[in-house]
Amino acid sequence: MAGDKLTLVFFVDALGWEIARKLGCFRDVAPYSYRQRTVLGYSCAAQPTILTGLMPDEHGHWGMFYRTERSDLRALRSLRFLPKVISSHRRFRRPLLNYHRRRTGFTGYYNLYRIPFHLFGAFDLIEKRDIYAPGAFASGAKSIFDHLAAADVPYRVWTWKHELDEGFAELETAIRDDHKMRFSLHYTPYIDAFLHGHVGDDEAVAGAVALIERRIARVVELARETQGDVNVIIFSDHGMAETTGEHDVISVVAALGLRQGSDYQVFYDSTMARFWFESPHARDRIVGALKELDYGTVLSDADLKREGVFFGDRRFGELIFLMNPTRLIVPSYMGGRAPRGMHGFSPEHRDSYAMLASSFEVDPEPTHIRDSFRVMMQAAGLQPGPETVDGHGDSAGLSGTASDSNQEVTA
Ligand SMILES: [Zn+2]
Repeated sequence: MAGDKLTLVFFVDALGWEIARKLGCFRDVAPYSYRQRTVLGYSCAAQPTILTGLMPDEHGHWGMFYRTERSDLRALRSLRFLPKVISSHRRFRRPLLNYHRRRTGFTGYYNLYRIPFHLFGAFDLIEKRDIYAPGAFASGAKSIFDHLAAADVPYRVWTWKHELDEGFAELETAIRDDHKMRFSLHYTPYIDAFLHGHVGDDEAVAGAVALIERRIARVVELARETQGDVNVIIFSDHGMAETTGEHDVISVVAALGLRQGSDYQVFYDSTMARFWFESPHARDRIVGALKELDYGTVLSDADLKREGVFFGDRRFGELIFLMNPTRLIVPSYMGGRAPRGMHGFSPEHRDSYAMLASSFEVDPEPTHIRDSFRVMMQAAGLQPGPETVDGHGDSAGLSGTASDSNQEVTA
């Protein structure tokens, strides 16, 4: 049995610690706030870490695309002869993505961005299943939704599949009408999208954040009116840095005269270039060229292991070139222009840090986005499985939360 109290979780993508602290966000509904280190990578790595409490090399998701000889995306290769002016256009890519989703039945979040179509034979998608539902991870990693389902906790979830107003309106309706619901998670990509275009414009950012704050406050107020005391947890997955420079890494590598596909393979994310090599010669040439660049770093295996993103089978890359904070690879397979804001830099950079705010004090203090999992589990009165037991296995420290062993009776 789970906790009696309703737990409301709000996941505000990209609302970093720095901006949230500066604006004094959520003080009324969730006065306890914590700075959380993020993981190296993008939301497709960070969100699984939040939902499972595991690092990317444990849950298995890091880059959105990984290298394989047997890609489920290979049918897209047939579009490789289309003129670039058509194939890279938004008005072509957007309907294509929608068609692709329907055709494949993939329920996870993905985008085809500006990835050259001939590469879809070499790269496949990691998030084929909806990570906001049970049974999402091929690695067998269990998410908060697996635990909620196993414990029969009635829960509802709203994700990127819902429009902002639609999600909040449905959540309010659920609070009013669905008195069985004990846990909800409302995710919004609104701030992420906004900050990509406006980070650094303090007034505009304050306005966008205030809009989300008001929506959350309204939900919490409604929940307190109808259900009394509720647990409130608000967190993000990473921050957003204002970009200061763009660099044409693709041309640097292309100028070496090696052939992509036969000498080496590469995937150009916006802040990382991930390489695979077919010969020591190709490796030497490319590593030599990358080490000459003063706007990024070749990461060592030790770096990758320390960040929890080292994969023995190298499916996400044999060598990772990470751009220095605020510098972008432009063009990349993600886009042809530099957005004003970007994330995916070193987790150590101040604008990379995520936040967690709660209506209750969390002990031990959360310091990493993987701790968001523990906070949700504790609030829902759930015990982690043996693989994540911290040695105590109790949820004391979370005042007023009922658990199996400590069932609280509420009036
Ligand atoms: Zn983003």
